[in-house]
Amino acid sequence: MNPVKPIRGKLIILSAPSGAGKTTIVKSLMQKNLNLRFSVSATTRKPREGEIHGRDYYFLSENEFGKLLAGNAFVEHEEVYEGLLYGTLKSEVDRILATGSHALFDIDVMGGISIKEQYGEEALAVFIMPPGLGALKDRLVHRGTETEESLAHRIEKARWELSFSGRFDVVVVNDHLDDAIELVAEHIRKFTGQ
Ligand code: ADP
Ligand code: 5GP
Repeated sequence: MNPVKPIRGKLIILSAPSGAGKTTIVKSLMQKNLNLRFSVSATTRKPREGEIHGRDYYFLSENEFGKLLAGNAFVEHEEVYEGLLYGTLKSEVDRILATGSHALFDIDVMGGISIKEQYGEEALAVFIMPPGLGALKDRLVHRGTETEESLAHRIEKARWELSFSGRFDVVVVNDHLDDAIELVAEHIRKFTGQ
């Protein structure tokens, strides 16, 4: 008798330079009927106003993060900005995939490439492209979360990250938000066979 193969979800990676609109798109996708569960990352960044531990991130001290790292608990991790660590926990991914839902990742470009390399055909890697660096800067200013220094840093990094868009399965330009959301949803439906 053949063993019954458990239903296993897939991985949907959304990566982009900071300010391109990943988080906004992720929130909309979660409201749709796509059988997605958000993969909550760990970070040493301090929570922003309104962010909740366990929902937006697992907010950890450097010491806690370091212990998990030493215990090989991460699928990938990056120092996304100087002194700030972010990482995808293996336990989080396994937990979601075992439910049969698809895991949705909002992670930086290098992290996205790393997960795609590890999971191959099981993962759909989507690069969210801003319409231009000017628009990216305007959005970050408008979001009001950055100091002048961190803004300059994010723009500088964005320039470099844009050069990796070719490593992703699909590139979606986030100019008109609703169009971008629908296009990403369509790619997910096709990939997951919904
Ligand atoms: P990321 O998660 O990639 O850093 P956010 O989702 O936080 O980006 O978006 C950055 C800012 O840009 C937010 O204030 C968001 O409301 C705004 N934004 C997102 N998409 C668009 C769009 N298509 N047009 C204009 N503003 C947008
Ligand atoms: P923010 O501080 O604005 O929430 O996130 C900064 C950047 O870190 C974003 O590009 C976000 O996608 C990325 N990020 C969040 N979680 C992870 C993660 O687990 N791994 C990696 N590599 N990047 C992450």
